[in-house]
Amino acid sequence: MRWSIKIARIAGIEVRIHITFLLFLAWIGLSYYRIGGTPAAAAGVLFILALFACVLLHEFGHALAALAYGIPTPDITLLPIGGVARLQRMPDKPWQELVVAIAGPLVNVVIAAALIFLLDRRADFEDLGRLQMPEIDLLAKLASVNISLVLFNLIPAFPMDGGRVLRSLLAMALPYSRATQIAAWIGQALAFVFGFVGLFTNPMLIFIAFFIFLGAQQEAAMAQMKDLSLNLPVSEAMVTHLVRLPHLATLDEAVEALLRTSQHEFPVVDDADRLLGVLTRDDMIAALKHHGPATPVVDVMHRDLPVVGPHDPFGEAFRLMQESASPALPVVDRVGRLLGLITPENIGEMMLVNSLRPRDGRPAWHRPRVAI
Ligand SMILES: [Zn+2]
Repeated sequence: MRWSIKIARIAGIEVRIHITFLLFLAWIGLSYYRIGGTPAAAAGVLFILALFACVLLHEFGHALAALAYGIPTPDITLLPIGGVARLQRMPDKPWQELVVAIAGPLVNVVIAAALIFLLDRRADFEDLGRLQMPEIDLLAKLASVNISLVLFNLIPAFPMDGGRVLRSLLAMALPYSRATQIAAWIGQALAFVFGFVGLFTNPMLIFIAFFIFLGAQQEAAMAQMKDLSLNLPVSEAMVTHLVRLPHLATLDEAVEALLRTSQHEFPVVDDADRLLGVLTRDDMIAALKHHGPATPVVDVMHRDLPVVGPHDPFGEAFRLMQESASPALPVVDRVGRLLGLITPENIGEMMLVNSLRPRDGRPAWHRPRVAI
């Protein structure tokens, strides 16, 4: 996240604070100072720091639960509105998502229970006068704020953990995208209620309503993408009508193929149709500047591109292509024979088709398959 400062690294997770969080602390300090001078300012800042320590532990709850399923969390960022744990991905199995979602609020349940136990013990053994002491007051406030954190996070609306809990429960009985749609719909309905109540009571609720509404929308869009990328095998998304260049072809022949077709990426194959490399339009332009038209294409093509199999999920191919910055991703069979190509254009078209499909329907070309 931009404008954030790294403050620690715990269990391989970078802990960062956003610059606005420091401003928020300064603002808290100043507001308390104007009411009660330095002691009040110190107490106010201390309370906020303790509160955000609880928020941080909450995020670590999510991160460590995800780690148990092999999903790393590169960083956790603290913002004035709360913490954000950036999980590399969400778990695919509903019950795993349920565990990851609930692990955060569970941490606050434990903290609140521990604090209440501690306060109870103190109240038993010390005289009641001590209950007015600032440290007791701080602990009591922390306990109640942890309970609020649990209740707030369990609101069944999307950016909240409760939204994920709801979705994962629904996904145990329904397809993932349908479960997300229903959860998103409930979240947005709740957002309207919050917004409406906020108009007459607390304007803060209107802010929360916006937050929930956008969160639900984003989650629904992401689920659609995920649905697409998870369910579709590469073989249904690849380009198969391809002009292939034989391994003895020259740059001249490649340019001719470029002019004759609308293709930008040309696979180079041997006599048995096994993939040797890919020659792109940019490769040709660069090569023509430095080499003659009689240069063999095998001398200037991209070699060692990552390849995928026809049954690999499309999402995997998309990720591989982004990670390796490949111009195209060849699809090969078990013995390395070329079956097709995933290109940036055809990914773009896939996204477009997906965005145009009816809300509940599947595109015509998407035949149902066994889940991977
Ligand atoms: Zn959470």
